[in-house]
Amino acid sequence: MYDKLVFELSDSNKNTVSIPENNYGIKMESCISSKNRREKDADIPTVSEIDILRHFVLLSYKNHHLQKGFYPLGSCTMKYNPVVNEDISSNEKVMNIHPYQDIEDVQGILKIMHELQHMLLEITGFDAMSLQPVAGAHGEFAGMMIMSDYFKSLNEKRTKMLIPDSAHGTNPASCTLAGFKAVQIKSNENGEIDLEDLDKNMDTETAGIMITNPNTLGIFETQIERIREIVHSKGGLIYMDGANLNAIMGIVKPGEIGYDILHINLHKTFSTPHGGGGPGAGGVCVVKKLSKFLPPFIVTETNKKYDLNYPEKSIGALHSFYGNVNIMVRAWAYIKVMGNDGIKEATKMAIVNANYIKTKLRGVFDLPYDMPTLHEVVFSGRKHKKDYGVSTLDIAKRLLDYGFHAPTIYFPLIVSEAIMIEPTETESKETLDMFIEVMKKIDEEAKTNPELLKNAPVNTPVTRLDDIKAMKELNVNWYGEKHA
Ligand SMILES: *Cc1c(COP(=O)(O)O)cnc(C)c1O
Repeated sequence: MYDKLVFELSDSNKNTVSIPENNYGIKMESCISSKNRREKDADIPTVSEIDILRHFVLLSYKNHHLQKGFYPLGSCTMKYNPVVNEDISSNEKVMNIHPYQDIEDVQGILKIMHELQHMLLEITGFDAMSLQPVAGAHGEFAGMMIMSDYFKSLNEKRTKMLIPDSAHGTNPASCTLAGFKAVQIKSNENGEIDLEDLDKNMDTETAGIMITNPNTLGIFETQIERIREIVHSKGGLIYMDGANLNAIMGIVKPGEIGYDILHINLHKTFSTPHGGGGPGAGGVCVVKKLSKFLPPFIVTETNKKYDLNYPEKSIGALHSFYGNVNIMVRAWAYIKVMGNDGIKEATKMAIVNANYIKTKLRGVFDLPYDMPTLHEVVFSGRKHKKDYGVSTLDIAKRLLDYGFHAPTIYFPLIVSEAIMIEPTETESKETLDMFIEVMKKIDEEAKTNPELLKNAPVNTPVTRLDDIKAMKELNVNWYGEKHA
């Protein structure tokens, strides 16, 4: 019974909606021109209210989400998003304003944006920022355009951008879009940037370097002083990919240790649900000399009156209006509730949680870079592949059978059969222990019953898919027998 979909339960004697008669004596037919009217009634199932509610709740259960279970997707910071953020961001005073309203009418939202700018600059140690970019990659692109315009303003021709081999794929993509040629820099045996390789490649035709810190192995780049000397001495700029800010916020301020530009993934570090690809917010922060190149708008305040400013030599608008304001409101609420101490505590807990998993699973799964790590840890399934013929994909799929979302796999590219786990600060020790037990169980299964893993998942509503086919011929509609 409960497996039935609403189409199967549909019965024309039932109905969920009752549309009130309108009070003005207007016939619907006279409102919609005949060419826009349906020829036939829409094929919408008619069921009772409780049936439709159950339908959606059951559908939500067939998928994975944070409200249902652990989501250790490395690099993505899938932390829990407090309900209060949702509540505030869906307040009608936030929801019902329009960007075409007069500045005087929208002082409240401008105040929120102004405070958010201030708090984010305090956390990151930079001088100015724009909240407009709507994704991390979008913030990277903004940063690259800022670099490009900066060097143009100096009449310098710089065509190359250095990117470590552990970087996220968006880094080479956004620097290429902005007109630079990506040049790969090697990692050393500790998983940090290879300084010799950097020194060799940094020249006066190179605009700078994009660094993720901590990097995608979860390792803090400790050599920033030397990197700064090498890059700045040749006139270059240092961009920081701030996707991993959850590992350092409240403790390290990137703007104070040599970075020139940074993007923040508000939807990762500052709590917004972001599975399924968005929406997001990727505010970009800069040091003073770059502030005039920022994308619009910068919210300023004089005598308690808020205004929108278009920087003097702006790279131009990257999005309509102010960007994704709703995400900004969530970030604002999150930081306000957490406060200085809360932000720092979140960082510490994120690091403790990742290191707990690392310690408990060391020796069970290979750990190619066994260095001190922060908020995430990257194991390798290479031993399992060699000894039992079980791949990292098989291990990840088997985790779904136990009710966990899979970690990020096959990234970063410098680790073969990578398994990248980021528990975040919001998970309890009990949850981490359950996950660790399951990972150990899967290790046992790999030894005793590898076929089981190769066919996993077996307990989910949809079992092992041909991933490529599923992506290319995506079909999530259900038509049932009568439509077949
Ligand atoms: C998520 C991420 C990005 C890209 O951010 P989006 O908001 O997904 O565009 C860039 N770099 C790293 C390291 C990331 O984890």
